[in-house]
Amino acid sequence: MSDSFHAWAATEASGKLQSFDYSPGELGSEQVELRVESCGICHSDLSMIDNEWGQSTYPLVAGHEVVGIVEAAGDHVKGVTVGDRVGLGWFAGSCMSCHSCLSGHHNLCQNSEQTIVGRHGGFADRVRCHWSWAILIPEGVDPAKAGPLFCGGITVFGPIAHYGVKPTDRVGVVGIGGLGHLALQFLDHWGCHVTAFTSTDSKADEARAFGADAVVNSRDDAGMKSIAGSLDFILVTANVPLDWEAYLGALRPDGRLHFVGAVLEPIPVQAFSLIGQRKSISGSPLGSPATVADMLEFCGRHGIAPKTEHFAFDQINDALDHLRAGKARYRVVLS
Ligand SMILES: [Zn+2]
Ligand SMILES: [Zn+2]
Repeated sequence: MSDSFHAWAATEASGKLQSFDYSPGELGSEQVELRVESCGICHSDLSMIDNEWGQSTYPLVAGHEVVGIVEAAGDHVKGVTVGDRVGLGWFAGSCMSCHSCLSGHHNLCQNSEQTIVGRHGGFADRVRCHWSWAILIPEGVDPAKAGPLFCGGITVFGPIAHYGVKPTDRVGVVGIGGLGHLALQFLDHWGCHVTAFTSTDSKADEARAFGADAVVNSRDDAGMKSIAGSLDFILVTANVPLDWEAYLGALRPDGRLHFVGAVLEPIPVQAFSLIGQRKSISGSPLGSPATVADMLEFCGRHGIAPKTEHFAFDQINDALDHLRAGKARYRVVLS
């Protein structure tokens, strides 16, 4: 256990990160302390640093795609022990007693602790969490690349598992970036026919390499019309407003348009676009600890990994600028 954690903090909205030491206080009886080996950078880290969602407090230590070694464990910790290599994502704790937690849906707990909201996260040498969210990294998963699976990965794996997407389904993925490139790999290995939607032509070949069977340029009306009524499930990883009626039109009867990208603008659709063919619109946050473990095993079995670019922790501001400029291909990891 360490008395002082060394971190990189933003001291004001959109500020450069600076070296920052803080005392974490006493380790909770159900908490583990991790020595951080690597930490991915997610768009949500930028949103929190910039206070885009109005819930940031400063100094703010972001970082919620952590891989590390358990260095200390409270007296009532279960499931992990000192020396284990684990991952930690967006959630750092759940109440373990509400209806959602008792149903296994810890990701829906209304009293959850979020790793970088009102507490300090993984852009640091140490970070703490409740034992339930320290998930063991199994054989076959490369720890150096695993960080992004704990936020970006589970965000797209969660709904594929939860909604029972079938190998016979035809699925679309909107936005081929940090989340989308993982969704393509998951769905390809799931057995689905996968269509990638991107407005960036240069990403078409890479999308095919990640497992897309077809690529549609979302700005091409003829391309969108050619797939009308053909998809069972569309996973939206983009966070910009698009022609949602056109995507609903691409669904088969009983199809679902599912959002995991944080589109801040309202989503205007006609009720009749849903009613006639019993279509749905939905959204979801990450996944439960058990679903994270399932995802990791699935990754190990099929050799699925994020495509990563690596920066040293002391190059953190360069790494953030790289992501801000939209240059990340496809996920940035600090180590
Ligand atoms: Zn994230
Ligand atoms: Zn709960």
